[in-house]
Amino acid sequence: MKEISSAEFENEVLSGGKVVVDFYSTECPPCEALAPKFDSLAGLYGSEIKFVKIFRQQNRELADRLGVKSSPTLLFFDKGQETGERLAGGIRRSDIIRELDHLLPADRVQEIKSQIHPFVSEYDVIILGGGPGGLTAGLYLCQAKINTVIVDVALPGGHVSLTHEVSNYPGFIDPQAGYMLSHNMSEQTKMCGTTFKVAVDVTKVDLNKLEVEIDAFETIRAKKIILATGTTPNLTGAAGEKELKGKGISYCATCDAKYYNDKEVIVIGGGNSAVEESEFISRFASKVTIIHQFDAFTANKTAQAKLMANPKIHPIFSHEPRSFRKEGDKMVAEVEDLKTKQVKTFSADGIFIFIGMKPNLELLREKPVLDQWGYIKTDDEMRTSLPNVYAVGDVISKKYRQITTAVADGTIAAISIAKELD
Ligand SMILES: Cc1cc2nc3c(=O)[nH]c(=O)nc-3n(C[C@H](O)[C@H](O)[C@H](O)COP(=O)(O)OP(=O)(O)OC[C@H]3O[C@@H](n4cnc5c(N)ncnc54)[C@H](O)[C@@H]3O)c2cc1C
Repeated sequence: MKEISSAEFENEVLSGGKVVVDFYSTECPPCEALAPKFDSLAGLYGSEIKFVKIFRQQNRELADRLGVKSSPTLLFFDKGQETGERLAGGIRRSDIIRELDHLLPADRVQEIKSQIHPFVSEYDVIILGGGPGGLTAGLYLCQAKINTVIVDVALPGGHVSLTHEVSNYPGFIDPQAGYMLSHNMSEQTKMCGTTFKVAVDVTKVDLNKLEVEIDAFETIRAKKIILATGTTPNLTGAAGEKELKGKGISYCATCDAKYYNDKEVIVIGGGNSAVEESEFISRFASKVTIIHQFDAFTANKTAQAKLMANPKIHPIFSHEPRSFRKEGDKMVAEVEDLKTKQVKTFSADGIFIFIGMKPNLELLREKPVLDQWGYIKTDDEMRTSLPNVYAVGDVISKKYRQITTAVADGTIAAISIAKELD
């Protein structure tokens, strides 16, 4: 692998051959997450493809010229021409391999793949999931000098990194940007010495053997596993929802509300998330129509009162969506009145769906005992029904799912494990 500057770009990249270029920055957690993957793939593909790194901060003009807007960004070149898909952000090893394979003939790809040797790494504790619950467990375990690895399919931070502002996490007088709060949590845990394996494919989880396989070639073994995989938003199941996800239908106000300045928006849901996020969306949108299946919101009373006093909010109770479609620039929702069975049509510029979450447990072949909603049951030290398997945060059976409660669970599990491993 070679580090180059703008001056060498012409000669090293554009003059021919197959080249992958990594534009990286310092103080960039996704760049740190990419570095070991880039190194190991350079070892594997390096005889066929040139691996080049460019420090973006010192080569801004070149980065701008190439339209590189974030770090890290990987660009793939063949015979001096950019080819394939640019990769940015939390880049997975499997995504890089896909793009590298496109550069080579199939038989050569097979030869290279045959050189991948599976290997085993050993830790005291594996934490599956790097949200507030997992990060806090990682911090406490690290401070107890317990060899711990955090494995996450995305970059660390969990839901908090996607939350616009957090105003109820103790210790801060002013609301904190969710991204910064989660960044500080993960840096604190990283600085302590916990190993992070993030933006990986978790390809197998064996809770009986206490093993987690990542990227289909590394098996991580431990004495204990903490499940901290959080939740994923529920879908309404209405026709057109999956097809329009990210194309007019959104599940994240923080990410997308800003695109609806002075526009009209439909929100589906009526619990805490729907009510709080509608309030946030109304800072941008001119009108927010909230469609809720029950005849009153189920969110907390304070949030409801604030919402109902907001002139931009238009609640429609006892209605459920049946289908979504796009008509020109507009999003259309066909909605059934649950009392009269009449189907009505609502049109807006965008649709947000906040109808609850489901626990992320698909990867577990053998599951610990779950509650009736599918969340993991734990005892008061966060032990599950499976020996040496703990669970913390939103993925467990509990009444209140907040950052503070996830952090508390992580603390308890870590102290309990530290005592057991002593
Ligand atoms: C829109 C929104 C706003 C919110 N606002 C607030 C707020 O203001 N204040 C507050 O206290 N709480 C808030 N919450 C709730 C809070 O974010 C959660 O309670 C908290 O993040 C839970 O932490 P966690 O660690 O259990 O899970 P998460 O934060 O969900 O993190 C789980 C992690 O596990 C990873 N993961 C998933 N599957 C796997 C797998 N198979 N293998 C490995 N890793 C995996 C995910 O990538 C993720 O990083 C909000 C939630 C939402 C959705």
